[in-house]
Amino acid sequence: MTIAIDAAIDAHSDLAGLDFPAFSAWVAARVGHSARFHRALYRQFMQTGRLDPAALPLWREAEAARPGTIDAITAAVAGSLVPEVTMLTRSDDAELGTTTKVKCRLADGAEVETVLVPMGLGDPTSPPSPEFVSPSAGLPVPHPRSSRHWTVCVSTQVGCRMGCHFCHTASMGLVRNLTAHEIVGQFLAISAATGVRPRNLVFMGMGEPLDNAEEVGRAVRVLTDHAGLGLAHRHITVSTVGRIEGLRRLAETDLDRINLAVSLFAADDAVRSIFVPTAKSAPLADLHAALTDLKLPRGRRILISLVVIPGINDGQPHVDALKAWIAGLPVLVNLIPYHPIPGKTWPAPTSDQVAAMSRRLDEARIPVRIRRTKGEAVMAACGQLAVERNRSE
Ligand code: SF4
Repeated sequence: MTIAIDAAIDAHSDLAGLDFPAFSAWVAARVGHSARFHRALYRQFMQTGRLDPAALPLWREAEAARPGTIDAITAAVAGSLVPEVTMLTRSDDAELGTTTKVKCRLADGAEVETVLVPMGLGDPTSPPSPEFVSPSAGLPVPHPRSSRHWTVCVSTQVGCRMGCHFCHTASMGLVRNLTAHEIVGQFLAISAATGVRPRNLVFMGMGEPLDNAEEVGRAVRVLTDHAGLGLAHRHITVSTVGRIEGLRRLAETDLDRINLAVSLFAADDAVRSIFVPTAKSAPLADLHAALTDLKLPRGRRILISLVVIPGINDGQPHVDALKAWIAGLPVLVNLIPYHPIPGKTWPAPTSDQVAAMSRRLDEARIPVRIRRTKGEAVMAACGQLAVERNRSE
């Protein structure tokens, strides 16, 4: 099933939620003109977060075909098309580069957080990137050297109703879902503010993405549109604490072409429910069935994120339970050392404890890797971003 996008959209502030056909229809309804002009305009918007038809080489042709084109488009998009960003934190890591977190202010005043994560430096001897300062937010260049890749972590809801006990966002409750425009807008806004064009995107910020699967699906369609951003499906990851209805929706759409990370905590309903209260109404048996129904691309594995908390979920019985639960599923287990947060008594594991858990999984022939880097850890489990948020406040 394909998720339809309403081309009859009127508000210019929703443009970032349009794929090229819908965007082209929006422009055509106002000023007509060729698909070539629409395509150039769309590419400009997706590259800069701005619509400035007069800056396009095609503008004379468009103006000659229909005088007033430039003014009509400029008037239609007066104001900001993407969220306003303000700097929250930058954390420097000598090996990895700089993680940049910004606050995105939405049209109704609601705010969400978006994070730009370096995925390892490129050539460490490479010269510094050119200085780039955002015209809107005055953000400095994220890192003096070029990262090999960048990942942007976007929010999908204002707040969240899953109530996970380790997560700061949970304390907000659910305020509202984000629209596709607001989700893609975070990508455009942080790109424009930092001068960085991320290769990867993870739905792992505020909110449970599969609790807002419809708008996440629309956003994926826009993000992967080759007329614009053209992100590869394999470079997009959606992380869930196991929202069964959302997984069912995923199975009905082309969303199952993107990567899926499931934050499991333990293959034991009682232990899992300690961390994710909604797991009580979505038991592991149902979660396994929903994952089984996904039509994954050949060779694609489901990432099972296990945040390791010593004494809670890292014993041999937990490994045995996990081995039984994953039967029939193509999985790769990500072990993520737990980062304690204020007000919680669970301890952080030592590196020896994480290594011991990895050995147990390996001996049980469960594919496993340890996520060591901060950036990768941010990518690996829902709520860990929220943990980072707590640590930085
Ligand atoms: S960890 Fe994710 S799903 Fe759970 S409350 Fe936080 S944002 Fe929501």
